[in-house]
Amino acid sequence: TATVGVLALQGDVREHAAALVASGARAVPVRRPTELDAVDGLVLPGGESTTIDKLLRIFDLADPLRAAIRAGLPVYGSCAGMILLADRIEGGIDGQRTLGGMDVVVRRNAFGRQVDSFEADLDMAGVSDGPGGRPVRTAFIRAPWIESAGPEVEVLARIPDRWADGAAVGDAAGKIVAARAGRLLATAFHPEITGESRVHTLFVRMVEESNREGAR
Ligand code: GLN
Repeated sequence: TATVGVLALQGDVREHAAALVASGARAVPVRRPTELDAVDGLVLPGGESTTIDKLLRIFDLADPLRAAIRAGLPVYGSCAGMILLADRIEGGIDGQRTLGGMDVVVRRNAFGRQVDSFEADLDMAGVSDGPGGRPVRTAFIRAPWIESAGPEVEVLARIPDRWADGAAVGDAAGKIVAARAGRLLATAFHPEITGESRVHTLFVRMVEESNREGAR
């Protein structure tokens, strides 16, 4: 059984842990470097990326986590977690840093004020295209999007040109909202709060694969 940590400094740790357990993993909270050493993979939950960035430094986790990502630790970042995984950020506050690892430019609070939170059904490669597959029920909460991605990044989901009910999408049409690069997975949305666990199942499979490939 893969042991997957959930960064427990801020955010909806419990919902992520439940989705991991539903996907067959053991879920443990991570607040210190020693706990980080004990996991096979890590989830970075949503929350507020500026706050998480500060807390990572206060808890002496920023450098160990950066090193672990470089060394190949599988990490899934949702929403604020996606911002943390991005190599570059637009719309960040002064001095805001990311952990990096994924060759993307992320735009913070990209969906703007009037639609800063909404739910949507999305197609996601590796998740909704399976047997008996159905779209992923997602929640966007003051979410970022990926403005541009490097050649090594696999795009897994985009905002469609039109919503299922025919409503126009506007600026967000075609924007990347889920991506994978090596052992890193990022979604702009929260799948865990709609009771969806298939995105976590995809991540747990990535963790198991990395365990099979051997020690980091
Ligand atoms: N807007 C938040 C940020 O910039 C992210 C919101 C979320 O994680 N739900 O960090």
